[in-house]
Amino acid sequence: MNIFIINSGSSSIKYQLFKMPSTAPVCSGLVERIGSDDVALTHKVTANGEEIKRVFKLGKADHEAGLNKVNELLTDPEFGVIQDRRDIQAVGHRVVHGGERFWEPTRITGEVKQALKKLFLLAPLHNPAGYTGIEVAEKIFPDAVQIAVFDTAFHHTLPPKAFRFAIPDQYYTGNNIRVYGFHGTSHGFIAGQAAAYLERDDLKLISIHLGNGCSITAIDKGRSVDTSMGFGPLSGLIMGTRSGDIDPTVIFYMIDQLGYTPEQVNDLLNKNSGMLGLAGSNDMRDIRKAMAEGDANAKLAYEMYAYRIKKYIGAYAAALNGVDVVAFTAGVGENDVFVRKMVCEDMEYLGISFDANKNSTRSDGIREISTDDSRVKVLIIPTNEELEIANQCYGLLYK
Ligand code: ADP
Repeated sequence: MNIFIINSGSSSIKYQLFKMPSTAPVCSGLVERIGSDDVALTHKVTANGEEIKRVFKLGKADHEAGLNKVNELLTDPEFGVIQDRRDIQAVGHRVVHGGERFWEPTRITGEVKQALKKLFLLAPLHNPAGYTGIEVAEKIFPDAVQIAVFDTAFHHTLPPKAFRFAIPDQYYTGNNIRVYGFHGTSHGFIAGQAAAYLERDDLKLISIHLGNGCSITAIDKGRSVDTSMGFGPLSGLIMGTRSGDIDPTVIFYMIDQLGYTPEQVNDLLNKNSGMLGLAGSNDMRDIRKAMAEGDANAKLAYEMYAYRIKKYIGAYAAALNGVDVVAFTAGVGENDVFVRKMVCEDMEYLGISFDANKNSTRSDGIREISTDDSRVKVLIIPTNEELEIANQCYGLLYK
């Protein structure tokens, strides 16, 4: 079965094609800078163990034009991977927010689309882009089943004591204000990988997703019981451009005393804070370089980033009444030797015995960076959200 996965953002579309049940993508790519005059499409195909990569300049293009070009490439005479676009049986869409209604992979119908539109209110920055991806895919692949997989879904098991805010009841019951949590597809994938790798389904696991956005989740026997992102993706860990946890009093102070509008504060905390605000870049590679050159801001930013993660590990170990595994994933988690070292050192009280040599030895796949006798295993687990979405679509169609 050919399942095409689309992750549609406001200015980009990431895609992968899987011939399920095989878990290696047959092709993948990225359309970027949508909305500009300089849209680019990078398309990769793996054939006979070799990777072919092509970059196409699309000029001015919207989501539909971008996806139309991808569609052409799928059946391209030279490096196409299917005969006909009707060979795509299902299209899986990443949708950021499922609200309280959607927590399973869901076939997209007219009624589901109406419900998705209502969720724009809860995720105004993210859900409209996902919706555009759905509408465009319906035109381009009219014969395929369209399926939505939600970033919030994995966290539907949070207990009320973790998902409620301590504000009057009416804001939850009447306005749906609660913790939803995000990066659920990634945390769910990590939980599955850790359980399979250690051959245990009773793990107390702390999953740490460190990409441009960052979140940490406490997982008990495969179920999410607490998570650091909340009503939106701003809370919790320090991120590339987001502040993470901040005393809300600061927001009122900026509005009342500094004369900022709410939109300006929103922009500041989401787009110009985090590592970018502290150290002038949201790319950890730049910040590490600056740190090596003696930049004090870069050093402090690293310390704050790691310290925040450490505090959450402590909190989640308490929430779980112990921890068997701490897992790092995503761009920073998989690649940044320093962050992992700064987080995991001096955690002996918790049972983490960190192996600095293993930490700095690169290899693909899952690897352990704790000592052999460490009570808590520390793992690096590469995430694969597209594969998880494909698996969930496959599961839905074959249930
Ligand atoms: P997202 O999917 O949220 O955009 P990724 O998971 O791809 O993000 O992570 C992107 C981030 O990963 C980059 O901004 C960068 O900070 C970090 N990163 C990527 N490669 C490395 C590396 N080799 N060392 C340290 N950090 C890295």
